[in-house]
Amino acid sequence: MKRFLFLQQWLYVGVIALCLSVIGVGIARYVAMDSATASSDQEGYYFVSSQYNDITSRFSNTSNTQMDSIVEYPETPYPKINETVAKTIDTYHTDFLEAVNQNATSTNHFMENISYQVYFSNDTHLSLAIHAIYASRDDEAFSGSSTEFWTFDKRTGEVVSLADLLGNSTDGRERLFISLRDATKRELERRKIAVTDEELKDSINAETVPSFAILNKKELLFPLGRANEGSSSSDDVEIKLQIDTLQLFLQNDTARSILDVVPIQQPAQPEQPALPSTSTGPGGYCNTQKCIALTFDDGPSIHTNRLLDILKNAKARATFFVLGQNVEKHAAILKRENVEKHEIGNHSWDHPQFTKLNHAAILSQLQRTDAIIQETISKRPSFVRPPYGAFDSNVIASLSSAGHSSILWSVDTRDWADRNASIICNRAVTGASSGGIIIMHDVHATTVDAVPCILKRLAADNYVFVTVSELIGTTKPGQTYYRAR
Ligand SMILES: [Zn+2]
Repeated sequence: MKRFLFLQQWLYVGVIALCLSVIGVGIARYVAMDSATASSDQEGYYFVSSQYNDITSRFSNTSNTQMDSIVEYPETPYPKINETVAKTIDTYHTDFLEAVNQNATSTNHFMENISYQVYFSNDTHLSLAIHAIYASRDDEAFSGSSTEFWTFDKRTGEVVSLADLLGNSTDGRERLFISLRDATKRELERRKIAVTDEELKDSINAETVPSFAILNKKELLFPLGRANEGSSSSDDVEIKLQIDTLQLFLQNDTARSILDVVPIQQPAQPEQPALPSTSTGPGGYCNTQKCIALTFDDGPSIHTNRLLDILKNAKARATFFVLGQNVEKHAAILKRENVEKHEIGNHSWDHPQFTKLNHAAILSQLQRTDAIIQETISKRPSFVRPPYGAFDSNVIASLSSAGHSSILWSVDTRDWADRNASIICNRAVTGASSGGIIIMHDVHATTVDAVPCILKRLAADNYVFVTVSELIGTTKPGQTYYRAR
């Protein structure tokens, strides 16, 4: 493949001869779509995600003796955005077809998966990334992956460049690239991957990183893609940068329309504390093995017991973000979740969007749910997943005053939108990385159907399935987490 991500380019140079076959497990052959099983238990409120409003998927799948290809295009209401993303996806796909054609006489089998993740969406801006992964049965050198990401201005359909965000002087961009290279170096060192400053410079600059993704109003995200350190593991390298140190360069309308820009005459905001280390401590298994947290929202439901059987079979632990009103209906299932060592989080009483409630109403949602959980399993949850992942500074203040942190996710399976086990499994596996948190909903039969595939494929890639607390340690009230570092 011609289009490997830049991280891999330096790894080619720095760690010559390491093969790039690491994502083979991530590309199981595409199975024909299951007939969607209708589920009827308490549905009706979880089909809308504040992040995916108005975005649907278009699939283009090919399966024959030579190849299996699944390509997922995002379809937003903004034609120009669709065009930009589709153009990039099509370039990948054309390269893939060309490579397959060149091997037309061989008996080799080629695989391609392209999917996307939305990181941020509000009235004016949209951040998303596409991930492409490739493998072949007989040719390890063919395997690899690539990531591209953008922030778009919905009003114009244009990509917001780093120059738009950081002002036209190169100072801001250089400052950002320095932070980005430092953070990337630290991350690669942590993974015992050697990289020189020169390689970092070649890999992280204005040409290789033209845009950015928004994580929230205070943080930018750079989903750089996968770094490969041998034949047995691959993880997404996602670098999160606080805007605190860039405030000086953010004094413009574009930045102000997206981020929490502090006017420069005021003192800079204090840095948010770093994520806590894993509860398993130095030498703990999440330091030496790849850990991932499966999370299930909106239950307990009539499908949960089947899910618990599957998890038990695989000796996998998960975290359930439950609704108070469903605990009331299915108390025995909550007890079972607890007895079988899964973790319980608060997902509100009846799933309102917290950003539309006042402080007292949010507190009531949290406390009622805490109370019924406490009453049922004699434990009080320490964290909340806000319904629809919707929050603002008021919501965070309410969570904080109720003693809760907030747990989001790094991989969205969109299992509420596509009731298809193959699609759900594919998204979970292609999005997986060590320290990641995968969101699903145990109120859909198709989600439960997808779990054996997810467990099998991630376990084959040496993942350990842990609870959120095992993954990220003790959380701090008022803080927001979306993965472990
Ligand atoms: Zn929910």
